[in-house]
Amino acid sequence: MAAREQETTAPETGLGVRQRATWQRAAVSAAVAGLQEFRSAQQVCDVLRAEGRAIGMSTVYRALQAMAELKQVDVLRGDDGEMLYRRCGHGHHHHLVCRVCGATVEVTGEAVERWADRVAEKHHYTDISHSVEIFGRCADCAGS
Ligand SMILES: [Zn+2]
Ligand SMILES: [Zn+2]
Ligand SMILES: [Zn+2]
Repeated sequence: MAAREQETTAPETGLGVRQRATWQRAAVSAAVAGLQEFRSAQQVCDVLRAEGRAIGMSTVYRALQAMAELKQVDVLRGDDGEMLYRRCGHGHHHHLVCRVCGATVEVTGEAVERWADRVAEKHHYTDISHSVEIFGRCADCAGS
């Protein structure tokens, strides 16, 4: 594989590894910031490679996972089970996602919020969270 990621090792200090992770994390972060649609790790990797970055799929995936844990990037599970990433606006919201082209609309759902609260209260659960995404076909993709 020509595009295979170069593994630079600095086993004594670990410094080289940490620096490598830093520029790659920054590159992944910049790529995600430019996304309008939710994209898979593979697609983010493709964007970076198209920019001429020698970056590996596993590195992109790890960076996205780490950013998701730090809430620096939003993540949802796609219709086919694949994890998808994008940087969202602030505040709690849900998504309407086109399963064909990935076009995404951010939506709020008061009825869903009230329902979640009511269900949790009924079962005496506290500190609750939920994630609700709606998948479908956008007007462009459904059009004839
Ligand atoms: Zn969002
Ligand atoms: Zn679409
Ligand atoms: Zn909600």
